Amino acid sequence: MWESDVQLAALTRYRIGGKAHRYGRFGTPADLARALRSLDRSPYRVLGCGANVLVSDRGVPESVISLAGEFDYLVVSETGIVAGGAAGLPALVGEARRWGKSGWDFLEAVPGSVGGGLRMNAGSVDSGLWDRVEWVETMTPEGERVRLTPAEASPSYRHVDVADDWVFLGGRFEALPGDPGTVNAVHARRRRLKVESQVYELPSCGSIWKNPGPPHGSAWEVVDRAGMRGAEKGGARIAERHANFIVNVGNARASDVLSLMAETRRRVHDEEGIWLEPEIRLWGFDAGDLASVGAVQ
Ligand SMILES: Cc1cc2nc3c(=O)[nH]c(=O)nc-3n(C[C@H](O)[C@H](O)[C@H](O)COP(=O)(O)OP(=O)(O)OC[C@H]3O[C@@H](n4cnc5c(N)ncnc54)[C@H](O)[C@@H]3O)c2cc1C
Repeated sequence: MWESDVQLAALTRYRIGGKAHRYGRFGTPADLARALRSLDRSPYRVLGCGANVLVSDRGVPESVISLAGEFDYLVVSETGIVAGGAAGLPALVGEARRWGKSGWDFLEAVPGSVGGGLRMNAGSVDSGLWDRVEWVETMTPEGERVRLTPAEASPSYRHVDVADDWVFLGGRFEALPGDPGTVNAVHARRRRLKVESQVYELPSCGSIWKNPGPPHGSAWEVVDRAGMRGAEKGGARIAERHANFIVNVGNARASDVLSLMAETRRRVHDEEGIWLEPEIRLWGFDAGDLASVGAVQ
């Protein structure tokens, strides 16, 4: 069912952004296929939990769709986990831990949905969700269901080679039995490290920039060296605790976040001769705004 003029700020972790002129939540594959076909190839975007999206103050001109209902499921078996695109990543990781499955701690304390996690190949520096995928199911803009393996999707760091308008409906993930005590301890350690080093108490989108890699190091280090830690614009601030987070300290506008990003990028280029690339997805911005932060979307 489509709705008109839906405020996206309320549907994103950032609590920032204007309206979607058309928004729909779909709870079954049949409903989703019908909705996609009704768009007749006009552009649309897929919104998960909005933990990695900055929506412009003007909102987005495209239709926006979300998954709900039958897409929110998790089933754990002896050797695998089957999860729907609307299931939460925290629920997936929590079940893996509860069942003593090894190899899932890398996703501890990562907010979002399974669909968003597949699109972003969410994870840590050294592992991504696609490392655990056996297969995923997608839906094309024509409403066809297509199953993909990792070899067909070519995942890489925060990226997967699947067309942006294909919807991830869910998938089957490897989950091998581990020693429950060890699994619990490893998860607890990872969670503690993340909660201590990142910012969870204020709205954000997580890490703003992709890590530039050697010899420059992590994105937070280059932002720090460029003197931007703690910089503020309107209601947005580069977090003191983690210089790759821009937090909403109260009524931030998307333009505040964008302006901090553009200044950071310029300063990092002046200091180190590299151009940072955004990890977050930017919706509803014009080409000039996107160019100012190096977004190729
Ligand atoms: C405090 C905090 C900490 C974070 N830490 C990490 C971290 O450690 N590692 C990490 O990788 N990320 C991290 N993130 C970012 C975020 O958690 C991940 O990117 C997550 O995968 C986003 O999922 P989502 O459902 O919120 O996606 P959204 O933000 O809603 O969307 C992100 C992208 O995925 C697409 N998408 C969403 N659902 C679907 C679908 N079903 N089918 C196709 N495309 C879809 C969207 O169109 C968009 O392009 C963090 C974020 C926060 C706020």
